[in-house]
Amino acid sequence: MADLRLPTDSIVHPDKDRFLARSGDVDRHQANEENPFEAMMSRFDRAALLLDLEPGIYKVLRSPEKEITVSIPVMMDSGEVEVFTGIRVLHNTSRGPAKGGIRFDMNVSLDEVKALAAWMTWKCAVVNIPFGGAKGGVICDPLKMSVGELERVTRRYTAGIMATLGPDSDVPAPDVNTNERVMAWLMDTYSMHKGHTVNAVTTGKPVEMGGSLGRREATGRGVMLTAVQALDHLKMPVQGATVAVQGFGNVGSIGAQLLAEAGCRVIAISDRTGGWHNPKGIEVVDAMAYVRANKTLEGYGKGDPISNEALLELPVDVLVPAALENVITTRNARDVQAKVICEGANGPTTAAADAILDEKGIFVVPDILANAGGVTVSYFEWVQNRGGYYWTEQTVNERLREIMVNSFRDVLKLSQQHRVNMRTAAYMVAISRVSTVHRLRGIYA
Ligand code: GLU
Repeated sequence: MADLRLPTDSIVHPDKDRFLARSGDVDRHQANEENPFEAMMSRFDRAALLLDLEPGIYKVLRSPEKEITVSIPVMMDSGEVEVFTGIRVLHNTSRGPAKGGIRFDMNVSLDEVKALAAWMTWKCAVVNIPFGGAKGGVICDPLKMSVGELERVTRRYTAGIMATLGPDSDVPAPDVNTNERVMAWLMDTYSMHKGHTVNAVTTGKPVEMGGSLGRREATGRGVMLTAVQALDHLKMPVQGATVAVQGFGNVGSIGAQLLAEAGCRVIAISDRTGGWHNPKGIEVVDAMAYVRANKTLEGYGKGDPISNEALLELPVDVLVPAALENVITTRNARDVQAKVICEGANGPTTAAADAILDEKGIFVVPDILANAGGVTVSYFEWVQNRGGYYWTEQTVNERLREIMVNSFRDVLKLSQQHRVNMRTAAYMVAISRVSTVHRLRGIYA
């Protein structure tokens, strides 16, 4: 098991010892490399140390504001009652309403949701949108459930976390295995309880009921925009740049499609059934049509089969891990040959693997920047709902581009100033924005 202790020896900070003594906990991260909360905290600690964050605010930011666990009894199609567990964590709301998706997955756990909620706080701060961070999840296997069962789970979960939800308090969105339809049920359930339609309670809704144009494509578009920024920064041509994408859901497929449109050659794609490798280039739109018809990439056949593990080790210009957490770890980081990693998923790289990627000189666009396009257009959706005035897709995409490009530049600038990698710089940008608000607001007593 990897040792995740903060490599404090490598940090030259005039007040390092005082900081370590007062924060007390910094050396605790010896736990499981793949515990996402530990992974998040060790990056947070490093950035907090570099920022010389005062101990009070450090303690506040380490602790989620609210953790809710609800049991969700659901009548299954068989006539039997099943009880699922649902979680919602609000990490920090100092900058605005808590924002973050809801995932339906068997691997959901409180530790994971806590990490993902904190990542949302940092993500919203990196792109400077006025939201805090939250995340939710239901432990279930949606692939084995009927539409009716999914609807009943969604509605009962929504009722269970009703007290926290609201356009000014907590605004969910889609995440792993949830989509526009799930958001429509959530919005309807909330609105039924309130007695009137409240479309700003969630984002990622169908366009017909207040969803934003461009929201569905936004995370993939942000991945493309930041990957292109990274290539430009490294003076690598975008035209013909080779790309491998792990994950072919909303983020991976659209990211791949837009990178191909930008002139890159997507040579490998994969989903949970495995992947396909074609050095001449994969026609992404064709693969998307195949997945629409067949649900997965299984049997696609236009290329050589490749495993998810082998895809990560291809010698490409850009690697986009856009599936789940912990796919680049101490076990395989040394074998990664990409020049740029653009993290479409949340937490695809473990903290211990960061150091190996640094040693290899790989330029990593971290998740809290690379995949922030989704929540950015969620913000646009919330603004449109509250203003009751809707933007064209072109306006959405232009404003998204501006935010992603400016955020990339903010993070790059700090990384150059402090001679740290992009991940540490992104955390520094985020933590300093959140802590500034805490300083201004003070502590209510
Ligand atoms: N689930 C997405 C994420 O992890 C979007 C969150 C949102 O739009 O609120 O960033």
